[in-house]
Amino acid sequence: MKHKIDNIVVGAGLAGTWLCYQFIKSSKSFVLIDEMGHSKSSFVAAGIFNPILANRQKISYNADEIYPNLGKKYHEVEHYLHEKFYHHHPVSYILDSLRELNDWAALSESHLFKDFVIMTNERIGDQIISDFGALEIQDSGWIDIPLFLTSFRKKLVEPNHFINENFDYNALEFSDDGLTYKNFEAKNIIFCQGTANDQNPLTANIKLKPAKGEVLIIRSEENVEGIIPQSGVFLLPLGNNLYKVGSNFEWKTLDFQATESAKNEILAKLTKWFKAPFEIVDHQAGIRPSSHDRRPILGRLSAHPSAYIFNGLGSKGAALAPLYSEKLCKYIYDGVELPPEVDVSRFK
Ligand SMILES: Cc1cc2nc3c(=O)[nH]c(=O)nc-3n(C[C@H](O)[C@H](O)[C@H](O)COP(=O)(O)OP(=O)(O)OC[C@H]3O[C@@H](n4cnc5c(N)ncnc54)[C@H](O)[C@@H]3O)c2cc1C
Repeated sequence: MKHKIDNIVVGAGLAGTWLCYQFIKSSKSFVLIDEMGHSKSSFVAAGIFNPILANRQKISYNADEIYPNLGKKYHEVEHYLHEKFYHHHPVSYILDSLRELNDWAALSESHLFKDFVIMTNERIGDQIISDFGALEIQDSGWIDIPLFLTSFRKKLVEPNHFINENFDYNALEFSDDGLTYKNFEAKNIIFCQGTANDQNPLTANIKLKPAKGEVLIIRSEENVEGIIPQSGVFLLPLGNNLYKVGSNFEWKTLDFQATESAKNEILAKLTKWFKAPFEIVDHQAGIRPSSHDRRPILGRLSAHPSAYIFNGLGSKGAALAPLYSEKLCKYIYDGVELPPEVDVSRFK
């Protein structure tokens, strides 16, 4: 006798976790399958969300729709899980030249940027060089992603909604009106596998442009609280004198090994403006599931009408996952069309 459910979700990173939360809100049943080790980008990520690409003087994709409502969406899940992982600590982008100061003096008044940035002359910290001031970026902050994901998994364990295993593609069989997987009979399956996308025969044709990144955890007596200084790299205060610092981008060697070269690159950028003594206590690497056109990838797969994908969150999973999981859920259940630029059908 098969166990009947609405959805099987493969991958419990930010994409799969947010999608399951949308299913909970829509009263749809699901099981979430994940085995750590395939890809751990959500656990390495700093979780920073930021509507501005300050070094490129650009607003990030769909910022008006994504960022003003982000806090509300995370607060809702925090309430559901009884945990606090949303931190509204603004990114403080350090202006590092007179030219940048002048550029931003004009840009911060412009129609495009005025709701997103405030220029400030306040010192960021005793040992942080910020002679030209900084931009306080509105609607920015960070999510403690490991805390969010582990508390969500814990909540699913008892009702048997979480399965800790490697998804076995050979055990999947499609039928006219759904699919079976081991002892489950489901209407839909949604693949949220991050960079392990290429190991899945149903999604391997959707090519990502993965980017490896590394972060350092440092300990310093410098007291930076309530903001996230950034210039070349970010300095994210984690509490207890610990900070996460990163990151770099590497497109050729795609593995989870922490490297000396990335460490040196990050340290060179940090020590340009962070003058306090510190020690490195950890060093981690992950791979961002980025897409070629820098847009998320979601929708129905051509392989079968019951098969879907949610991927391509790149370096912005914390900000993109809440809105686009909601859009995917409405697409599956209410037939609400997806914006063409994120629809997986663009890969045909
Ligand atoms: C160094 C670094 C810093 C970053 N900083 C930020 C940041 O500050 N802000 C931000 O928003 N984003 C950041 N990111 C990006 C962020 O990590 C990604 O956007 C996000 O984690 C992608 O989530 P995902 O769920 O799509 O993929 P993943 O987190 O990779 O999740 C995929 C899941 O699928 C599971 N899986 C895959 N195949 C199988 C299988 N066959 N069987 C079982 N399970 C399977 C994996 O175990 C994994 O848990 C950073 C990334 C890196 C590497």
